Amino acid sequence: MNPAIEVTNLSYRYPDGTLALDGVEFSIERGSSVALLGPNGAGKSTLLLHLNGLLGAEGSVQILGKKVEEANLPWVRKRVGLVFQDPEDQLFMPSLWEDVAFGPRNLGLSKREVEENTSWALKVVGLAEMAEKCPHNLSFGQKKRAALASVLSMKPEVLVLDEPTSNLDPRSKEEVISLICDLKRKGTTILTAIHDVNIVPRIADQVLLLDRKVVELGPTREVLVKRGLLKGLGLDLPTIADLFCTLKDDGYEIGDIPFTSDEALAALARLIEK
Ligand code: ADP
Ligand code: MG
Repeated sequence: MNPAIEVTNLSYRYPDGTLALDGVEFSIERGSSVALLGPNGAGKSTLLLHLNGLLGAEGSVQILGKKVEEANLPWVRKRVGLVFQDPEDQLFMPSLWEDVAFGPRNLGLSKREVEENTSWALKVVGLAEMAEKCPHNLSFGQKKRAALASVLSMKPEVLVLDEPTSNLDPRSKEEVISLICDLKRKGTTILTAIHDVNIVPRIADQVLLLDRKVVELGPTREVLVKRGLLKGLGLDLPTIADLFCTLKDDGYEIGDIPFTSDEALAALARLIEK
């Protein structure tokens, strides 16, 4: 079967001359959840914009086997839901309901389907009670979740998220994380650009390291222990993994590096028993 996302030799230069992507190549299987990591300016947002044809470039992007090009844009945009980092870029209607209903209406769904999808999307992001509010008057965290709802209402097969947890308080952050985990369980293919590396093991099976080109793509637990590679890009290891990598370097028998607090507690218990 065709991969969900296949990018071949993709390069992009902004009109001012900045080379943001330089020969990017990777492919993502259907149903996997991939975290996109890289320093500021690595081209993460630029890459994501290419996935539903918002920027034209050299090279090729294929979604579920179809090339992203002018003639296929309606097909592609029906399947790829892109949530921008800045929710202001996504919300433009006079009420939250209208914003979230906009996508499904645009896809030509029936009135009933539009209503079902809209109320479902508002509910899963926890904004059902706010449907009549003007998006402009929502708090930042609510706007972030509203932007997510405006994409989820189209039930995209491929969900592309640009920093979905940035600037959220801990509770909203947890809500977004558990929503991503739910969608992943339901089989949605998810690509998430994210800064907080501690969240990555919870939401992603694979990590794609980008620095204008692909530096690495592999299983989360293999990539996030490569200290030299990550530090070279100015990135951190998840705090727990970092601590246990240090213990391992110091000669302690750690086995598999823990990533969650439960795993860390079990590893500590084993160390103490020895
Ligand atoms: P990231 O999301 O990884 O932080 P971006 O994709 O936003 O990186 O940016 C990649 C590079 O492209 C950066 O050097 C940035 O300054 C540049 N860039 C981004 N948007 C524009 C733009 N509209 N015009 C010119 N340069 C841009
Ligand atoms: Mg960005």
